[in-house]
Amino acid sequence: MEFSISTEHKLLQSSVREFLKKECPIEEVRKLDENEEFPLKVFTKMKELGLSSLTVSEKYGGTGRDLLAAVMVLEELSKHFPCLGCLYAMSAFYGGLTIEENGTENQRQQFLPSIAQGGLLFSYGSGESSADLDIVHGDPATASSDGAVRVYGTKRQLISADRADYIIILESTAKKYRQDDEDTMYLVRRNAKGIEISMREKLGLRGVAACDVKFSGVEVQSENIVRRSCRVRECMSQALRLSEIDHLQVATACVGVAQGAFGETLKYSRKREQFGQSISRFQAIEHMLVEMATWIQAARLLVQYSAWIAQQNKPCSVELAMAKYYAADAAKHVCVHAMQVFGGYGYMMECDIQRYFRDALALSACRGTSHSVRSMIAENLYVK
Ligand SMILES: Cc1cc2nc3c(=O)[nH]c(=O)nc-3n(C[C@H](O)[C@H](O)[C@H](O)COP(=O)(O)OP(=O)(O)OC[C@H]3O[C@@H](n4cnc5c(N)ncnc54)[C@H](O)[C@@H]3O)c2cc1C
Repeated sequence: MEFSISTEHKLLQSSVREFLKKECPIEEVRKLDENEEFPLKVFTKMKELGLSSLTVSEKYGGTGRDLLAAVMVLEELSKHFPCLGCLYAMSAFYGGLTIEENGTENQRQQFLPSIAQGGLLFSYGSGESSADLDIVHGDPATASSDGAVRVYGTKRQLISADRADYIIILESTAKKYRQDDEDTMYLVRRNAKGIEISMREKLGLRGVAACDVKFSGVEVQSENIVRRSCRVRECMSQALRLSEIDHLQVATACVGVAQGAFGETLKYSRKREQFGQSISRFQAIEHMLVEMATWIQAARLLVQYSAWIAQQNKPCSVELAMAKYYAADAAKHVCVHAMQVFGGYGYMMECDIQRYFRDALALSACRGTSHSVRSMIAENLYVK
């Protein structure tokens, strides 16, 4: 087993840290969160770093698919400001990985070069059954051209659908969480005719919007339909499914948020004095800090281990689901402990911990609650 991180990966990590310190200082993060403002300025600068190229092969203008590097970048962004992590995931994960892994040659040529430059964002409407959408196939009365489909219905709470270039809708045969399920992904242009987007107010992740998207017979041309079928594409039989990509990105973001909250808590516990000593010397506090550090370490290892398996194109659905379930719970537990260590101050809006707390709750609800992810893992255990 090899657990060391390469010099290149460490350099990448520190360059993202430097970038955030310079271009998005903590005062800016607080302001964006308070005003529910999209981080346009820093996001525009972030594109110049070329981070989205980490999930794109060199052949299509990327630096080569390096999942460990991509999760390290996503963790850093989420540690500092999870909304930036969301935007990175929308480009490198939902865009780059989805199309690199599952797209046709034409789709790769069309989308990947722009994704590698950070120029395209993909919002994702999850839901294994697509029960809330009606996708009408091959009916000459409704589908206007060969192979095109029309989409009807509403998808709720889509992160940053208002800023996305494309909204991905997943239609899956999955009844259980198995490798041989087929997925169809419809890449719907955000400004297509028949799309209506409305914003919802929410507690956390306030720098990006949660949108309800109504589809009134929106046409998707055949060239924007991405099919993933193990049986059809045997050579790519372990290509990552969209739901797996989703678990990888949410789990990583949760590790980032937990790490951010932990860093602040450690600093505060050393600085804050009560009864003539730093509160970090109280055993009760020490134990909480140890628990937080251990949960984060375990979550990060699950994430990096599943990224490592995925990098080798091996099956990793269960590992990714475990990483999502554990990291989401870890982020929540870490933030509750953090609030406890900060005492009354942790509950004040001027304290950053309440923001981490709100963001951890938002992320853990994203893309399947811990209950439903556990059920997916259980299905797979029984199948074996
Ligand atoms: C901040 C935020 C951002 C989001 N962003 C997106 C997005 O970009 N795209 C998108 O498509 N969706 C998004 N969502 C929606 C999110 O994916 C769903 O809220 C989540 O999957 C839970 O589904 P639900 O709200 O329908 O809850 P329900 O499924 O109705 O769950 C209600 C309760 O039942 C439990 N439950 C449900 N199923 C099971 C099961 N199988 N086994 C055991 N218990 C179960 C749940 O744990 C929960 O306690 C977002 C949500 C939030 C809060």
